[in-house]
Amino acid sequence: MALSVPSPFRFPSEGNPDGYLDQGSALAKVADPIQAPLIAQAFELYGSGLYNLDRLTKEMHRLGLRTRAGHMVGKSVLSRILHNRFYTGLIRIEKTGETYEGKHKPIVPVSLFKHVQDLINGKVGRKVVKHKFLFRQLFRCAHCGRCLIGEHQKGHSYYRCHRSQCPSRPVREEKVDRAVIRTLVRLEYSQEEKDCARKRILELRENWAVDREAVIAALRLKLAALEERQNRLTDAYLDQTIDKVIFEQRKTTLLEERRTMQNRIEEMAAPGASLPDRLSEAVELAGSAYLAYRFAVDEEKRELVKKLSSNRTLTGKSLAITLNSPFDLIANRFSVSDGRPSRDTGRTWDGLLDRLSQELVGKASESGFLAGPSARPRVTQTLLPGSRPCDDRSSHRR
Ligand SMILES: [Zn+2]
Repeated sequence: MALSVPSPFRFPSEGNPDGYLDQGSALAKVADPIQAPLIAQAFELYGSGLYNLDRLTKEMHRLGLRTRAGHMVGKSVLSRILHNRFYTGLIRIEKTGETYEGKHKPIVPVSLFKHVQDLINGKVGRKVVKHKFLFRQLFRCAHCGRCLIGEHQKGHSYYRCHRSQCPSRPVREEKVDRAVIRTLVRLEYSQEEKDCARKRILELRENWAVDREAVIAALRLKLAALEERQNRLTDAYLDQTIDKVIFEQRKTTLLEERRTMQNRIEEMAAPGASLPDRLSEAVELAGSAYLAYRFAVDEEKRELVKKLSSNRTLTGKSLAITLNSPFDLIANRFSVSDGRPSRDTGRTWDGLLDRLSQELVGKASESGFLAGPSARPRVTQTLLPGSRPCDDRSSHRR
């Protein structure tokens, strides 16, 4: 017997996805003012790593997410929502594996969508905190890639890799703390540098009205280049130089890059968007990081470490911390391209602000600190490398 159960939730292959209102086949769907923010929130909550599907289902019910018939939205439907690329502005036809750019307005940033997929697929771990070690989930063993686990031993906190016969040695928390401080000290400015930075950023602010137009024009060129790449990709597929699977993979990547670029252009064109403001924010955050860390409580310290650095590793007995862009540029501001240090503060800061501007454009992250607009485009552009938390299996040993 064929059952015809009307489902309140429909997906692109079946028609109208949830969170959007159908405007007829010729028009783009518009975000449902009630459902869309709730769905965006479901992605954010899941993306926080603090929710599994069970908890999220209950939480979304509490927040007011309902089926069209007014019932609780079940786990399986919520799971389909979290898998649905439609919310990022793209349309994927599951049957054929093809992806298209939709006309509808996205409600979930591509970076958040990807992070949620990583969580679902177990590529990044959830946050289930058993014992709150200061540096939990923040350092990895360089030999085996595992997260260092916090332990209590003889009145001290240690971090170590739990793989048997790993050449890494356990490190005391105090040693990790000192390594962080050594890294942050490199971001401190002298009074001369502070004055110089302030003056240069002020000049940039004065010229921003004109510069902004140039920046937007450059971003548009970059968008056009992406469109051209997509055309060439389609040609390659039609000429049968690449197969359908590769074609679809590359097309999806290009569509996501285009979406990110379009967002940047929109943000840059928005009233109030200002690269000098962002530069100033980055410069100030870097300059105050060391003192902020010294006087912060544990949770603030962790946030600061995550915001400023990634790829924190232990090799044997030594710790290495890689600052995130653009903070790495600030830390290395006195090393010029030929490797010789420059002691001319004015020249150093001119070059630094120029490179920072490029970073802010090329690597603006949708979710990170540098979200939003930025200036001169770069040849390569990737998202800010976020720190990827791993399983928290902090143990408590005596
Ligand atoms: Zn190891």
